[in-house]
Amino acid sequence: MMVVEMADGSTKRDLDRVCESLAGAGRGYRVAPGGGRSYVMSADVSRAADSEPFKGLPGVRRVQVTSCCHPLASREIGGASRPVELAPGLWIGGGEPVIMAGPCAVENRTQLMSTARGVRRAGAHVLRGGAFKPRSHPYAFQGLGSEGIALLKEARAATGLPVITEVMSPDEAEWVAPHIDILQVGTRNMQNYSLLRTLGGLDRPVLLKRGMSATVEEWLQAAEYILAGGNERVILCERGIRSFDRNTRNTLDLSVVPLVKSMTHLPVVVDPSHATGRRELVLPMSMAALAAGADGLLVEVHASPETALCDGPQSLTLDDFAGLMERTSRLASVLREEEPSWLMPVAR
Ligand code: PEP
Ligand code: MN
Repeated sequence: MMVVEMADGSTKRDLDRVCESLAGAGRGYRVAPGGGRSYVMSADVSRAADSEPFKGLPGVRRVQVTSCCHPLASREIGGASRPVELAPGLWIGGGEPVIMAGPCAVENRTQLMSTARGVRRAGAHVLRGGAFKPRSHPYAFQGLGSEGIALLKEARAATGLPVITEVMSPDEAEWVAPHIDILQVGTRNMQNYSLLRTLGGLDRPVLLKRGMSATVEEWLQAAEYILAGGNERVILCERGIRSFDRNTRNTLDLSVVPLVKSMTHLPVVVDPSHATGRRELVLPMSMAALAAGADGLLVEVHASPETALCDGPQSLTLDDFAGLMERTSRLASVLREEEPSWLMPVAR
C-alpha cells in the first residue's frame, strides 16, 4: 500500500490535491491523523512507480510504498513510542507504569465502593470494572449494564480515579463514552470491526485486548482500525492466548511485550489475571511483565473474591493487591535507575 505523509505546514488544499489525484485514478484512500500530521493511505497503490507522482505534490513530506498492513500503528511510519493520555494528567507509555485495578464485574454498590477505595489506598491509578460482561456461559451473570455504569461514576467521584470499562457493540460504545474515561475492547471482540470503527470516531482512549487466538499482525491491524478513524489513543493489552495446557486459563505471551514494542509506538499493558486465571500467579507475572517493558498492568481485585460473581479465583484480595503495588513500585524504581537496554526507548 501507499502512505503519503503530509508536511507540518501543509494546507487543506494540499491534502485535497493528494486525495483528488487518487480519486481521479479510481483509487480508494483514507485520511487519518498520526502524531500531529495527516496521512493519506491507499491500499490500491502497490507499485513504487505509481507512487512517484505524489512525491512532487505540494505539502507532501514523504511517500512510502509498504507491505505493512498497519502503517499508523507501526514504528516504521507512525514513529517512536508516544505516551497516551488516559485521563487529564494521567499518561501511559512515558516510563512510569500505570496500574489499573478493580473487580471483573461491577456487582453492587458495596462491592464496588469497598474495592475502589481499597485499590485507591494501595496506589492504583485507574479503577476497572465490567458493566457489560462478555460471558462465555450464556446463563452466567451478564453484568449490571447501565446501572453498573452509574456505579462506576459514583466510584470515580468517591475516589478520584478514572474508570475503564468494556464495551461490546457500537451502540454500547457510543452510549458509554460520555460517562467513562477509558473504553476496553475484550479479547472476544478484538476483531469486531464495526465496534473498532465506532471507537475510531470517539474521543476516548481505547484499551484493545489481544484476541485469544490472534496473531500480532491481526492485533496491530485491529489497532489500525481505531487509528484510521482518527482516534490516536490506543493502548494494547496482552491477556494470554489459547494453548493446550489447562493448568492456567491461558498462556501469557510475555515475549510479545518487547516484540510489539519494537513494532509499534503504542503503549502495551499486561493483564496477568485473565492470562493465568490463578491469583497466586498474578504477582510473579506482574513483576515479569514490568521487567519485560510493559507500560502498565490491568489486574482484577475484589474486596471478597470468594463471593465474586465473576472471576473470583483469579481476583486478588485488597491485601494481595497492596503487596503487589509495593513490590511492583520497588521494581519500577530499579528499572528506572538501571534504564535496562532491553526496554524500548520512548520519544519525549
Ligand atoms: C475482563 O477484562 O474482564 C475480560 C472479560 O477480559 P478478556 O476480554 O481478556 O477475557
Ligand atoms: Mn474478568
